[in-house]
Amino acid sequence: MSWTAAGPVLVINSGSSSLKYQLVVPDTAEVLASGLIEQIGESSGRISHSTGEQSWTREDPVADHGAALTLLREQFAAHGPDLDGVGITAVGHRVVHGGSRFSDPVVIDDDVLVEIEKLSPLAPLHNPAALAGIRAARERFAVPHVAVFDTAFFAGLPAAASTYAIPAELAAEHAIKKYGFHGTSHEFVSRRAAEVLGRSTEDFRVIVFHLGNGASVSAVRGGAAIETSMGLTPLQGLVMGTRSGDIDPSIYPYLHDAAGLSIPEIDTLLNKRSGLKGLCGDNDFRVLDRRIADGDEAAERAFAVYVHRLRTYLGAYAFALGRLDAVVFTAGVGENNARVRAAATADLEHFGLVLDEARNTERSRSARVVSATDSPVTIMVVPTDEELAIARKAEQLVG
Ligand code: AMP
Repeated sequence: MSWTAAGPVLVINSGSSSLKYQLVVPDTAEVLASGLIEQIGESSGRISHSTGEQSWTREDPVADHGAALTLLREQFAAHGPDLDGVGITAVGHRVVHGGSRFSDPVVIDDDVLVEIEKLSPLAPLHNPAALAGIRAARERFAVPHVAVFDTAFFAGLPAAASTYAIPAELAAEHAIKKYGFHGTSHEFVSRRAAEVLGRSTEDFRVIVFHLGNGASVSAVRGGAAIETSMGLTPLQGLVMGTRSGDIDPSIYPYLHDAAGLSIPEIDTLLNKRSGLKGLCGDNDFRVLDRRIADGDEAAERAFAVYVHRLRTYLGAYAFALGRLDAVVFTAGVGENNARVRAAATADLEHFGLVLDEARNTERSRSARVVSATDSPVTIMVVPTDEELAIARKAEQLVG
């Protein structure tokens, strides 16, 4: 690793109604503080701040992202650490959509802001929120600000993987292609898996399942992504907490005609009311697990649909890679839910995947192997850390 000892980086993940932050030292991964400001723009807001040893929460309305950044500074002033004293080297911002324009992190100037703004039609919920956070942060922190894009790791996808089979001119005119998301996590986790196994990334072929409330899978060969399940938007691919993932595109016009739903209504339906939530009413796996234990059929079916999709992608991506060294699970569900990992990899001994039940059910926060010692394909759990990855990229760029 080439980064040098330097001050901490403030990482900001600005969503439409929330703003997450973390003050982290890139080379040691030490988190000095973190916080979450929620319900921005609503009549009541919630502000929480933690220094690891202690946490504080208060309720107060937060008018907009500017007010959120003022509150962020107030939290540090009240509870520490002293933001002006710690010597922040950069502020790293998560930006969801970098389009075809951004394949690497970039130091933010006025031109970059214009470019990110131009990409807003591709990510109407995410990019305007990131922009609001960046603008407010630039006014309050006189250090370099770096944008790290969720799409960047997938910018080099082979054209055969990123091209939709629609008229080529239309796709070019409207920048329609598979962009992929969660890239910072897929890159971090695939590299970390190679590191843990003592393998060079150049000769490592791995499938990464990022299973959180949003979920995606990638195939990574020699450190580069060759496939991923999310598309033009984060709606494509796996069954997620509230998103449908893959469906027959004809369901859109059919719902319009048969159910009388407008396009915005269908979009909301597929993004917010589908997935596990649509199938059984719950999207939290902890609740789902309890319901399944009680013999709840809707929860069992939701679980089966979720796992079936995982296995279908697992098979497809193994073939895309040609050889499979490891399968890695990460994010909230991937790291914590042994049943999902077991079901996704069950009965695949013929294809070289042999899970070790005891290892799989052991609780741990570390990156670890959960397959049998003699399993030809290594199955792993590798905790993701997008904030640390963003901090390191920001530090590398400006440090
Ligand atoms: P993420 O988007 O990565 O924060 O993941 C959120 C999801 O992870 C939640 O909706 C839960 O389904 C799942 N999750 C989080 N913690 C646990 C846990 N301890 N056990 C099982 N599932 C969990």
